[in-house]
Amino acid sequence: IVRLDNVHKWFGDNHVLKGVDLSIKPGEIIAIIGQSGSGKSTALRCMDHLEQIDKGSVTVCGHTFGADIPKSDLKMLRQDVGIVFQSYNLFPHLTVERNITLALTSVKKMSRSQAKDIAQTVLTQVGLQEKSQMYPEQLSGGQQQRVAIARSLAMGPKLMLFDEVTSALDPQLTGEVLRVIEKLAREGMTMVLVTHEMAFAMRVAHRIVYMYQGKIHEQGGPEMLRNPQTPELKQFLD
Ligand code: ATP
Ligand code: MG
Repeated sequence: IVRLDNVHKWFGDNHVLKGVDLSIKPGEIIAIIGQSGSGKSTALRCMDHLEQIDKGSVTVCGHTFGADIPKSDLKMLRQDVGIVFQSYNLFPHLTVERNITLALTSVKKMSRSQAKDIAQTVLTQVGLQEKSQMYPEQLSGGQQQRVAIARSLAMGPKLMLFDEVTSALDPQLTGEVLRVIEKLAREGMTMVLVTHEMAFAMRVAHRIVYMYQGKIHEQGGPEMLRNPQTPELKQFLD
């Protein structure tokens, strides 16, 4: 469902991705770990063409692109891929429900009532069915993050990308968000998680990818974290 082939990315002179190869099968859950600045977010953003790659190619959900992607393909790509960031980016002046239905009515051209039904379904999935008429500021950080996840799910993605979605949250709120992600895992959603939560990564991910200085330095099953092979990963885990 995802294939990165020799992906390179520069920001000016800064060579941030130095030939990343990664294949992900449908239903697989990948956790990307690594030091700050190692290129985790950039790699994730390249999968959704939020960053343009400079060399190599990316195939995601059947859409193949290099530096450029045709407009129509980009639109389809964005419907197939949900991405959630550390900041929730909800519209403050819209209710929870409207935050979710907006893209359904405007991008997917659904009727308002159909969109509301979907909003109810995805809010139930994240345990917030009671909150549809609230505004974001009336919710906790963890609840807002779950609304952001629900908003992505509403589009019916084939792949979900999560970039440190809990790092702005205190431990209790982190737990609620991680439980939602675990539930998606049980339901068979294909996911890529950039995370600092090692225990969570070990529990949920089928494969762990350790990035170091713009490359995949080591990867393997969750047991890899108990038995790192490279000195760099060993040091990172210490
Ligand atoms: P963190 O754990 O801190 O989130 P990361 O592994 O996600 O780190 P990236 O955000 O992918 O790291 O950044 C990799 C490198 O690319 C860093 O050196 C960063 O400064 C640089 N970089 C990232 N985004 C941009 C940008 N928009 N413009 C210029 N440089 C950038
Ligand atoms: Mg990052």
